[in-house]
Amino acid sequence: MILNHSVQPLPPLPDCKDKTASLYVHIPFCRTKCGYCSFVSFPAIDFNLTNYMEGLLKQAETMSCHPWIRKRRFKSLFVGGGTPTIYDEKSLARLIKNCLRLFKFESEPEITVETNPNTVTLDKLITLAAAGVNRLSIGIQSFSDRLLKLLGRSHSAADGLNSVKSARTAGFTNINLDLMYGLPYQTIADWEETLGTAVTLSPEHLSIYELTVEEGTRFAERADKGELVLPHEDTVIEMEAVTRNITQKAGYQRYEISNFAKSDRKCAHNINYWENRNYVGLGAAAFSCFSGVRVQNITDPAEFARLTQKEMPPFLKAESLSNEARFRETVIMGLRMLSGVSITMAKQRFNLTPQTYYGETLQKLIENDLIQISGDHMRLTEKGLPLANQVMAQLV
Ligand code: SF4
Repeated sequence: MILNHSVQPLPPLPDCKDKTASLYVHIPFCRTKCGYCSFVSFPAIDFNLTNYMEGLLKQAETMSCHPWIRKRRFKSLFVGGGTPTIYDEKSLARLIKNCLRLFKFESEPEITVETNPNTVTLDKLITLAAAGVNRLSIGIQSFSDRLLKLLGRSHSAADGLNSVKSARTAGFTNINLDLMYGLPYQTIADWEETLGTAVTLSPEHLSIYELTVEEGTRFAERADKGELVLPHEDTVIEMEAVTRNITQKAGYQRYEISNFAKSDRKCAHNINYWENRNYVGLGAAAFSCFSGVRVQNITDPAEFARLTQKEMPPFLKAESLSNEARFRETVIMGLRMLSGVSITMAKQRFNLTPQTYYGETLQKLIENDLIQISGDHMRLTEKGLPLANQVMAQLV
């Protein structure tokens, strides 16, 4: 079933054995739009933020009454964007408290708020911690002012350092820093300096992504005109080696292709996605997955707020995935994690195993040392990790 009308009601939702889910809330506003950004985010100045917040709260209220949701315990809450901390502390605390009140959470859920360095103050962070936020994710991207400017970021390297310092002062003991490499005109020394600075701050978690120039961004336009010079492929490979060395020496465990954590600080919210489990998304452009029915909210924040406040459904499309499609997705997403996919879990959830489903294709990947099966887990090998996209393309 694929429905794709302008707006539609929520389709009937099947139940499943898994009685857990995670909750995502999307704040699609930023101070300015970064040159490389392909996320659903808009300059805050163009929208009525109060109105959007009311719409969000209304959707939280409506969705929390749905029978499928009433049956679920939520493991995590992630307020992402965009830049959630574009809002003042009172609004954010109200949003978080309402989510915690309306949805049934497990004890001690992971509660993350994404921030950008020049949108946080010590007072704001103290208020967030008091509202229950126990994990902060800071979009640092680089500690080079030259590269931050080139990326179109609205903060400086000093803002980045100060935001981490303020987060510690506010009492946060679980901090993630987002960093990027493979940037135009970035040298290996630049990357060593940024990553080196990051690890000296001892964040509990690092998300490290290579820049990809996505269609429709200002970077794509500039790249087409030959105005952007990206590092050579060999330089990027060397940057990856730098990443492995510095993170390993600093005591981080790589547990997903782009994510590194100290001991027990893996991101529970993202693991829920990589395990392809249930999630509920509130806000413009947010996705939900209800026992294999994937639903997307409309992307226009003003229209989203208008509809939800009138108690009208804000859903853009709904797609019911077949058992096989969900199995394939679960395998592919699971391979992103270094622990891989549990074969018993796949069998229990989908009544399928990778060996029987993929047959010869999987056998060849094993023979070529790209995938290994050891014990109950199927995972990418050392050789397969850098070729993850090519391997996954064979399993789609
Ligand atoms: S801060 Fe993040 S979401 Fe906002 S414009 Fe920049 S990259 Fe996009």
